[in-house]
Amino acid sequence: MSVFSTFIKKLEAPTTDMMITASQRVGSHIQRVTLTLPQGQMKEFSIGSYIQPMVGGVVPRAYSIAETDNRSCTIIVSFSGGGVGGRFFRDARVGDVVSIYGPFDDFPYHYSTGRPKIFMATGTGVAPFVRMVPEAMNEHRSTVLVLGVPHREDIPYASYFYDVAKKNGSIFAFVPVLSAPDAAWEGERGYVTDIWQGREKMLLQSDVYICGVPPMVAGAEEFLKHIGMDPSHTFIQKFG
Ligand SMILES: Cc1cc2nc3c(=O)[nH]c(=O)nc-3n(C[C@H](O)[C@H](O)[C@H](O)COP(=O)(O)OP(=O)(O)OC[C@H]3O[C@@H](n4cnc5c(N)ncnc54)[C@H](O)[C@@H]3O)c2cc1C
Repeated sequence: MSVFSTFIKKLEAPTTDMMITASQRVGSHIQRVTLTLPQGQMKEFSIGSYIQPMVGGVVPRAYSIAETDNRSCTIIVSFSGGGVGGRFFRDARVGDVVSIYGPFDDFPYHYSTGRPKIFMATGTGVAPFVRMVPEAMNEHRSTVLVLGVPHREDIPYASYFYDVAKKNGSIFAFVPVLSAPDAAWEGERGYVTDIWQGREKMLLQSDVYICGVPPMVAGAEEFLKHIGMDPSHTFIQKFG
């Protein structure tokens, strides 16, 4: 089926009206927004799924689900680009109602592969990993989450991931990588692919999940191809 036919098929699907019940700024350019179903309704928002809110009246934008309790779902939206979707969620208020297509499910967590997990994201691309990391912990899989952002205050879910690392230190490492760090930053600097120089073997032995904007995904894919990564162990969600 062509990309266009898939798009039309999605638009023919019924929408659900969801109400914004929480909205919170994260760092300089991310809005964390919770959308809640009408009273009495439940939906399964499976791990790795995304919704398509109708913003600006014409073309729906896609946002990955970071949290859910089957009555509501929480998304994190970057508004740094100044586009329609980003501005819509930056300015939306608690009580606003949004028409939602989905959820759509094409970036699942792969259970029982017997391999370590490496999650790579930039910015809001970390959303699906908020729920995948605990699954990896439940499976007792060695796991690394590498998250690229410009500044430390822009790390979404920072305290959540540091907490998971504190509780699962022997199997989970949380590695924020800052592209524009302040002088006091003692962690990794640069881009998410930089930290793998000399650690290529670890990637080759793992399931590698990548989520984020197209340039980051393209860079990571090129790097994995260069080191001879088997594509059947690479799972990708591209934000565009
Ligand atoms: C499966 C999937 C999941 C996704 N999940 C997420 C997610 O969890 N979080 C997230 O943030 N995004 C996510 N995205 C990306 C998201 O769907 C949108 O593409 C993104 O929010 C940009 O849409 P927009 O309407 O803000 O920008 P658009 O209006 O589509 O514009 C695109 C770009 O054009 C430029 N532009 C447009 N208007 C202006 C302006 N006035 N001034 C300056 N530049 C401008 C900007 O560079 C902008 O980013 C996902 C995408 C996919 C496909």
